[in-house]
Amino acid sequence: MAIIRQELAGYGQRIAARGLTAGAGGNISARDGRFLWIKPSGLAMEELRGRDMTCVDLACGAVIEGRFKPSSELPLHLGIYRARPDVNAIFHTHSPWASGVITSDADIRPMFAEVVNDLGGITTVPYIITGSRNLADAVTEAALQHETIFMMNHGVVALGRSMKQAYFRCCVAEDAAKSFVAASLAGNPRFLSHGQIQELMALETAAYRTRMAEMEGP
Ligand code: 13P
Ligand code: ZN
Repeated sequence: MAIIRQELAGYGQRIAARGLTAGAGGNISARDGRFLWIKPSGLAMEELRGRDMTCVDLACGAVIEGRFKPSSELPLHLGIYRARPDVNAIFHTHSPWASGVITSDADIRPMFAEVVNDLGGITTVPYIITGSRNLADAVTEAALQHETIFMMNHGVVALGRSMKQAYFRCCVAEDAAKSFVAASLAGNPRFLSHGQIQELMALETAAYRTRMAEMEGP
C-alpha cells in the first residue's frame, strides 16, 4: 500500500536527520501483508521518497514493484520476516556511537530504564561481511530471541512490531552508547544490576509498550 512506503521513506529521513547513519549506509523495510517494502541499494536514507521503495514478495523474494534494485541486505530482512511473524519493521543503521562501542571490548549494557524497557532482548553477532548469506543467517538466528541486534564492525539491526518501535529502538541504542562513552570519560560506568533490571522489567509499562508496538497507517 502506498502509505506504507511513504511512511518508510519518512523514517529513513528521520534516521538520517538524527545522525543514525550516513550516505548509503543502512537499510530499512516494512511488512505489507505478503510483501515487504525496502530501501533500494545504494540510496541514502535522507534522499528516500516513497516512490523509490522496492516491493518484494516475502515468500519467493522476487521484486514486484520498484525502479531500483533492493538493498543488498534483502536476505537478512527476508530471513527475519519469515522467522518472526510478529515483526513488521526492520531498521538497520550504521549508528556511529553504537557501532563504535560494540566494536570495542565493551558491550552496550543497561545503565537506564529505557535500555531495559524499550530495546527488548539485545545481543551482538561477530563480524561477517556485509550483504552475505552468512550474515543474513547469523542475524536471522539472533532475531529468534532478540529485538535489537548489534553487528560488530558494522551496525545495528532493530526489529519492531511497528516502524515507530524499530525507529525508537535505533534511537535508544545510540543514546545508550553515547551515555556509556560519557560515563567512561567521566569515571566508571555504573550499570544496572541484574536485580534492578528485573525490577524494571516488572514495572507496569504495558500501555506504553502497546502504543509503541501499534502499527501506524492502515
Ligand atoms: P544497501 O545500500 O545495499 O542497502 O547497503 C547498505 C548497508 O548498510 C549494507 O549493510
Ligand atoms: Zn549495513
